[in-house]
Amino acid sequence: MTPPAMPELAELQPIIAAGGAHLQQRAVCEVMCEVAGGVQRFPVLAVTLGNPSLDVPAVGFFGGVHGLERIGAEVVIAHLHSLVMRLRWDSSLHRQLESLRLVFMPIVNPGGMAQATRANPNGVDLMRNAPVDASEPVPFMVGGQRRSNRLPWYRGVAGAAMEAENLAVCEVVEQELLPRPFSMVVDCHSGFGTRDRVWFPYAHTAQPIPHLAELFAFKAILDQTHPQHRYVVEPQSCQYLAHGDLWDHLYQRALLSSTNQAPRTFLALTLEMGSWLWVKKNPRQLFSRHGIFNPLIEHRRQRVLRRHVAWLDFVMRAALSHRRWVPTDAAREAAHAQALSHWYVKAAA
Ligand SMILES: [Zn+2]
Repeated sequence: MTPPAMPELAELQPIIAAGGAHLQQRAVCEVMCEVAGGVQRFPVLAVTLGNPSLDVPAVGFFGGVHGLERIGAEVVIAHLHSLVMRLRWDSSLHRQLESLRLVFMPIVNPGGMAQATRANPNGVDLMRNAPVDASEPVPFMVGGQRRSNRLPWYRGVAGAAMEAENLAVCEVVEQELLPRPFSMVVDCHSGFGTRDRVWFPYAHTAQPIPHLAELFAFKAILDQTHPQHRYVVEPQSCQYLAHGDLWDHLYQRALLSSTNQAPRTFLALTLEMGSWLWVKKNPRQLFSRHGIFNPLIEHRRQRVLRRHVAWLDFVMRAALSHRRWVPTDAAREAAHAQALSHWYVKAAA
């Protein structure tokens, strides 16, 4: 068998090896696809580190869900690389990991990345494939379609099981994140637009989620700590609605597993890096399918990685310290009301 034709996987493997006994890795599933005239097999890898106890908070970092958006996988790999190097000298990181669990799935859709397609090798868009139907009208095609897997945004066959890559994500999230009192995920994508956006559920309805107060408090500590940050934090429904969103599905699973005796907070964030920033500065990128979603110029790529890796580190510290900023009781009710008027006032009008 020829070696995997994918630079991201080749980059990831030595990083995992350098982590030594601090890291655990497993191939949650394998996908087969045709690349350069031959069939290749790629693992969907999950890497874990930190305290495995289900009492401590956790963060999951996901990338490469859409095969064309390579920069998403690169940001997650760069973050893991930085942590692995810090494990050699940074005692503050070791102390963090005594009370924190981290999960990495940097290349969720290796077949799509190898074939340079948004969808997986079956032509399914993994972010339209979960068993969640939008309760309000979605944009034509973009919101998810079941006409053909040769068209973009294909959801898969109605009633069929989710694609193997999504089942792998669900397995890892349900084992590692949902059983905990507090967990967060960041799923890294690159999207259209000029702003870097941090989306949270829902995508299938314009209704607010029950954990709006927690997200408003998260935005507040981000705004206070990094007043110069460039992220627009908002519900995905502010931009567009879609069928089959995987994070809506997993958020709803988290709600089902939450009880009064054992409340669960699961905050699912999607980082949508604004790729028009790159196109605007380098219009030639418009003529390259890879270039629309990824910064082609090296110094720009470095800047993108630097900025977002710093933000992923912020998310880690926020999860670790959640008890200091997640509002309770009357403060939670007040934050919920403020969040409604901040994000949903237009929807209510
Ligand atoms: Zn994407």
